[in-house]
Amino acid sequence: MTKLIMLGVGNGRVLDLYNTCFVIQNDKGNLLVDTGGGVKIIKRLNQANIDYRSLRHIFISHSHTDHILGIFWLFKKISGPAMRGEIKESINLYCNDKVYEAVKQVSKYILPEKYMNAIYNVLDFVILKDGDKYNINEINYEFFDIKAKGVKQFGFECMVNNNKVIFLGDETLNSLLFDRVKGAEYVLHEAFCLDSEENKFHAYEKNHSTVKSVSEIMSNLNVKNLILYHTEDSHGDRRKDLYLNEGRKYFSGNLFVPNDLDVIAIS
Ligand SMILES: [Zn+2]
Repeated sequence: MTKLIMLGVGNGRVLDLYNTCFVIQNDKGNLLVDTGGGVKIIKRLNQANIDYRSLRHIFISHSHTDHILGIFWLFKKISGPAMRGEIKESINLYCNDKVYEAVKQVSKYILPEKYMNAIYNVLDFVILKDGDKYNINEINYEFFDIKAKGVKQFGFECMVNNNKVIFLGDETLNSLLFDRVKGAEYVLHEAFCLDSEENKFHAYEKNHSTVKSVSEIMSNLNVKNLILYHTEDSHGDRRKDLYLNEGRKYFSGNLFVPNDLDVIAIS
């Protein structure tokens, strides 16, 4: 069975949720998708029973704080085992050239050279171009440029048990990608806030969506299962119900509004 383990589902400003990142897990291993913005990546991996030392595949969609900064905490934690020679297989970090530059430059300033030397001994950067394909844990992935209005950002599509699964990063889907998304079984898309609270959270000016706006688009594209993440967290325990209630008015497929650490089985 292949599972999406949502380590974090919050946007870049949350304080209670963790920032959006998740693991695609099957019996061959894990792919960590984004790293969130802080040390809580370690805690969330622990809570999901994933040993950070065992990670062999990491993808970072873009270079914003809430997606990239967790990697430096992972580097810090992995540097010890790496220096002691305990990491036997290389760690593949899949990312576009902008993310690569950010990781290289920032780590120079914030982590000791001896840590980074140990990390670079076990780390392989896989610098992605639009349309690149890789097989990771026996799943075929195609990485693509989501044509973001902001910083360069990549998503991916993959096939899991004959389901097309598409991850679209953290911007409203560009209409240039509608054909790719049409009819997909599973789509992961951001929803920054409720439509009724757009004037409070200003989703649109940040190139983000409301629950209503993304639900309408995905309904028109005949998506079967829609997973919403990258939300605000002002509603506490009521968030899931409020978001589901709004989304179901516009999207008749299966709608998921996961909490941190929720698991979604792809079947
Ligand atoms: Zn973000």
